[in-house]
Amino acid sequence: MTVYMEEMDSFSFAEAIAGGAPVLIPAGSIEQHGRHMPLQVDTLLSRTIAGETAARVGGIVSAPIVYGYKSQQRSGGGNHLPGTTSLDGDVLTAIAKTLVLEFARHGTHQVAFVNGHFENSQFLYEGADLALRELSRGGQADLRIMLLSYWDFVDDATIAELYPEGFTGWDLEHGGVLETSLMLHLFPDQVDMTKVDDAPPAVLPNYDVLPVRPELTPASGCLSSGRNASAEKGRILLDRASAGMADAILTEFGRTRH
Ligand code: ZN
Ligand code: MN
Repeated sequence: MTVYMEEMDSFSFAEAIAGGAPVLIPAGSIEQHGRHMPLQVDTLLSRTIAGETAARVGGIVSAPIVYGYKSQQRSGGGNHLPGTTSLDGDVLTAIAKTLVLEFARHGTHQVAFVNGHFENSQFLYEGADLALRELSRGGQADLRIMLLSYWDFVDDATIAELYPEGFTGWDLEHGGVLETSLMLHLFPDQVDMTKVDDAPPAVLPNYDVLPVRPELTPASGCLSSGRNASAEKGRILLDRASAGMADAILTEFGRTRH
């Protein structure tokens, strides 16, 4: 049976919720990822990694939040780049809050946001908090929410294994080895390795500036190079991240492993 709710019929969905399935909500973005990958990388990866994780914990994956919060130069190249199309913070907060309230209305007691876009985090958190406040005012205090960004579940040993030339940090991984490897493993038709930009990691100031100075972002739009990416690295990353997220969800929500 599928874990993706939009592929389920209403009765199967109701049965899964009644059986205590946690609901995983993928949160992505429509954001440039260089010449070698499409705009939907963050949305595709968050949805697929949520799917792998849900299968391990007996969960359901909701339809994804397709757009994300504004791309920033120090983590996503910037919101000024062509095709990068983003939500204002209050809009993303409202979407996150609304989805929590909707799944609470459907009867779930466990919701986990699976984030695939660095800039989303605080707005998902805010939406979750506002939803909980509203529910508790209405006398409903039995909902638990988690927020997980999948790269946080790639451990140091895996980093050492996959980045023998050194690791520059998750913020500079935009369009780099992590995302390119996962895409090569999961959606190889959507990656063109002949177009990977072979440049050193971006050097950015340790502050933000508005309006953006476009010249701070590398011409490729990527903050590090995906040249050392491979489908095999993607397979390892998917496995470690989904296993780590499943462990965290089982710890917090206390479900038996599937
Ligand atoms: Zn990305
Ligand atoms: Mn992103």
